[in-house]
Amino acid sequence: MSKVSFAGKRMLVAGAGVSGVAVAQILQRKGALVTLQDAKTLDELGDRVKNLQQQGIKLALGQQNEILVSDFDYIVVSPGISIYSPLVLAAEKQGVEVISEVEVAYRLCPAPILAITGTNGKTTTTTLVGEMVKTTGKRVVVGGNIGKALSLEVEDVTEQDLVVAEISSFQLEGARTFRPVVAAVLNVTPDHLDRHKTMQNYMAMKSRIFTNQLSQDYVVANYDDPLVRDMMEKAVSQVVYFSRKTELEQGVFLKDDIITIAWQGKTHPVCSIHTLRIIGSHNVENALAACGMAFFAGVQVSDMAAVLGRFEGVEHRIERVATVRQVTYYNDSKATNPESSIKALEAFRGHVILLAGGRDKHTDLTEFMKLVKEKVDCLILIGEAGERFAQAAREHQVEHIERADSMAAAVQLAHDMAQPHQVVLLSPACASYDMFRNYEERGRVFKELVHRLSS
Ligand code: ADP
Repeated sequence: MSKVSFAGKRMLVAGAGVSGVAVAQILQRKGALVTLQDAKTLDELGDRVKNLQQQGIKLALGQQNEILVSDFDYIVVSPGISIYSPLVLAAEKQGVEVISEVEVAYRLCPAPILAITGTNGKTTTTTLVGEMVKTTGKRVVVGGNIGKALSLEVEDVTEQDLVVAEISSFQLEGARTFRPVVAAVLNVTPDHLDRHKTMQNYMAMKSRIFTNQLSQDYVVANYDDPLVRDMMEKAVSQVVYFSRKTELEQGVFLKDDIITIAWQGKTHPVCSIHTLRIIGSHNVENALAACGMAFFAGVQVSDMAAVLGRFEGVEHRIERVATVRQVTYYNDSKATNPESSIKALEAFRGHVILLAGGRDKHTDLTEFMKLVKEKVDCLILIGEAGERFAQAAREHQVEHIERADSMAAAVQLAHDMAQPHQVVLLSPACASYDMFRNYEERGRVFKELVHRLSS
């Protein structure tokens, strides 16, 4: 049984992206009277919307389509539509409730939700929490910003199941009553400020993951991040801090490298961080957060340890690909900015052959190149950013810089020069669109080339 019925409600779904189409279909199946609106035309949207009319969904497509917001009971906005858009402002003026796809999912979902937000580490932590809570024997659904739209994922869940959701700040914009029983805020660094305008707004959006929680709920939060700590002043739920740097009196922390949960006078050692298969201090933070969430979802500590001992991470995030001639290759194609590549480089002791470059985001390279100088034996550059990266590397006295005109040439070059004590890391610090459809394709091409070397 869902919490709220949308049957008979007149609903405008704004934005015919993946989640917009998904939520339109769900709402229609739940008996709502659904109109799907998008500035693009039927031709431009293609297959995704083709059969919707037959399913009983009204389409309002193309720029010229004037929408009268007062014709609707609810406006459901896609993550791509800002709360500052004219449609949303008009709806608010008319008193029509504006909600997000995630809010719809929440209202339809009878199961408890565990939800994760933060600037970085969401997918890794969500996946890890999903694996941990599966050990309780419950049916677990993992969704949100990851995989399918949350509203699709929750369609068949029951009260006995558990939902683990990755939630971006965009998805939280239209969250009104969304209340996870366990939430997590991993970190907040300036991101998407083009959309949220100020850091205050961005933090306010992220806070929505816990502001509807009640005193019996939990919010797992990063003690090492001062902005996250500031946000927690608003929490009425129980704040469970995790820290990689400080031994806390209560919370999740490291004691002699052992992940430790201390709660209400009891201490539970989980496992040593040296048993983790995911590497880098950022992943220790993700593991700490995951343990905190799992603990309050009733996962046994020994099961958390077992999951951490086998969890290999998510594809394209410092993913171990293969070892060829005693050289291990890692795919970190998800690193589309220098900050992410810094995280990856920090995870290695040194002796890295780094493949970087792609579509330049024109971000500052100072910190990144300092680390390249320290940890990288050879920097192999690909893509449009090659020249600027090479220039910045030279300014930081990086000695060995090579250029390659394709991923295949870059991998071959790395293979030709790699010595047994080195690692080869693809961590581009750039977008992929100059040479690939997306970062996933870039990562897969890299992996395929590496596998060919090993065969
Ligand atoms: P998200 O889903 O938030 O983008 P991912 O788990 O996909 O996060 O990780 C993406 C990248 O973000 C990683 O490759 C890594 O560079 C960086 N990252 C992951 N976890 C953290 C963290 N806890 N703190 C800082 N950076 C992180």
